[in-house]
Amino acid sequence: MSRLRPVGYCRICGRKGRLSYEHVPNREAYNKRNVIEYSWNDIFVRKENPRGRIIQGGIGAYTLCEKCNNETGHWYGGEYVKWARACFEFLNNRTPSGLDPDEAVITLYDVHPLRFLKQVVVFFFSVQPGLAATRPALVPYVLDRYEKNLPEDCQFFVNFYFGTRPKLRRWPLAGKITIEKRGSLLLPVSNSVLSELTHPPFALVMADKTGFPGAGMITGFTNYDYDQQAKDLTLKLRVVPGESSLPGSFE
Ligand SMILES: [Zn+2]
Repeated sequence: MSRLRPVGYCRICGRKGRLSYEHVPNREAYNKRNVIEYSWNDIFVRKENPRGRIIQGGIGAYTLCEKCNNETGHWYGGEYVKWARACFEFLNNRTPSGLDPDEAVITLYDVHPLRFLKQVVVFFFSVQPGLAATRPALVPYVLDRYEKNLPEDCQFFVNFYFGTRPKLRRWPLAGKITIEKRGSLLLPVSNSVLSELTHPPFALVMADKTGFPGAGMITGFTNYDYDQQAKDLTLKLRVVPGESSLPGSFE
């Protein structure tokens, strides 16, 4: 499919030029089918008959220059696809745990955790406009594959995301307050400022130092080197069915 390539500023390096279409997540990670995109207005204002807009050939946007898109895709993309395929197949073939909330455990072999994390960071440049200005340290983090320093107030989380008709959520910036009922009182027990990307098999969250309770933190993957493999790595995560349009929801 041919797409007209617009001119604009690359979300990572900031250079102006022809932008290339970045699939978010990568095309080979179950992101090549047509989807219907609903805006905030569709979901929360119009509600009854949301119109939506058909996006052909997978979700993404003209957000990165060709150099940034190609280099990061080359360094990290294959790793993300590998994890996504393994987890998708696993979730597709398993029986639900019967736990509340549902939880799944998978062990991945011979994987590069730093590459996976860096691809996640690249996604958030596309999801959250202005990220290079608010978190400048993330620019060298993805443009230098060996760089390992993440900003201290930046944390990354993952859950499994798998249901019959999961909503593909992209939230540039949102707040989530978790409230618990104690007796007759409703008490706020945690709050998060987050950016979110959900696409089976993963729900990915970037949060500030408030964190994101209820998900697996993957910020620690930055302790691996670019070429360092984990012989085996176990992910024990909640399985979010993805029925809600709300950011950070576990429904
Ligand atoms: Zn660029």
